[in-house]
Amino acid sequence: MTAIATDIEKAAGVLRAGGLLALPTETVYGLGANAEDPDAVARIFQVKGRPPSHPLIVHIGAAEQLDDWVEEVPQAARLLAEHFWPGPLTLVLRRGHRVPLEATGGLETVAVRVPDHPVALALLSAFGGGVTAPSANRFGSVSPTTAAHVRAELGDAVDFVLDGGPCQVGVESTIVDVTGDMPAILRPGGVTREDLEAALGHPVAVPSTSGVRVPGQHPSHYAPRARVVLVEPGKVVAEAELAQDAGHQVGVFLPSSLVGAEVKAHAVVALPGSLDAYAHGLYGFLRELDERGCDLIVACLPAEEGLGLAIGNRLRRAAGPRTSG
Ligand code: AMP
Ligand code: MG
Repeated sequence: MTAIATDIEKAAGVLRAGGLLALPTETVYGLGANAEDPDAVARIFQVKGRPPSHPLIVHIGAAEQLDDWVEEVPQAARLLAEHFWPGPLTLVLRRGHRVPLEATGGLETVAVRVPDHPVALALLSAFGGGVTAPSANRFGSVSPTTAAHVRAELGDAVDFVLDGGPCQVGVESTIVDVTGDMPAILRPGGVTREDLEAALGHPVAVPSTSGVRVPGQHPSHYAPRARVVLVEPGKVVAEAELAQDAGHQVGVFLPSSLVGAEVKAHAVVALPGSLDAYAHGLYGFLRELDERGCDLIVACLPAEEGLGLAIGNRLRRAAGPRTSG
């Protein structure tokens, strides 16, 4: 057997034994447990420090298995599953009997997806069941996009880290509620609104976005240690230099339109020009600026198109008030 095949067998054994596992997906690394084992699921919440009312996503091996996990599959859900799975799209449906309430935060709905990662799919096939998995990080902090990120953050708290290389997409899945009359985006992510609308043939509602500096609306999540400040694109350099002069160790997300500009700051990340590459690198950039000792990160929001919607959502929440943990 190849090394990865051996690791996948070992990982499936961990799931069968009620253990916890870090697994690669195309979005971010997940902290996985057997979805049908309430004790194993409860351990996910303990290790992450996640409130038990926050529902988890159940990962399954193929779209054909969807009916096994939910009460009913509306037509729009069937269409979206066929179109986007395997892929970074999570569907919220009415909970089936197999899903314990521990996994749904007590809700009668369940979030399900088929990840588009060869190692995750091989694991799900070897295991045979569903795997509940939130991102493999402590609650509120930056999601891991490499196995090294997981080891650095969770260490011995997981029974095994299944290394499938760096995550391709880099931000979490798009979550779409298909329990109502019209599909609605609950969280923007790896599948774009434009692609959803093209598949459905009609507009899809997105969560309301608000101004850059509105306090109190975006409780902190996806957050590095450094405080994150969002400003207008034209003010990134001036804001960074002001804060550096005021004694901060400033990290800058320099928009690609300004790459090459001189910035007086502690550390500068030159953002890639494409939104795909930005999403892929986003969490790594935040971690890098923490590691380089920054206490303040100055960034701006990308255009709200394509993956820019998901990147903007994560940046807003990284910049949100820290009181809610
Ligand atoms: P993550 O935090 O990346 O594990 O994604 C899980 C997120 O999926 C939760 O924070 C919810 O926002 C969403 N979610 C999961 N299950 C449900 C559900 N049954 N109804 C609504 N949202 C859900
Ligand atoms: Mg998370």
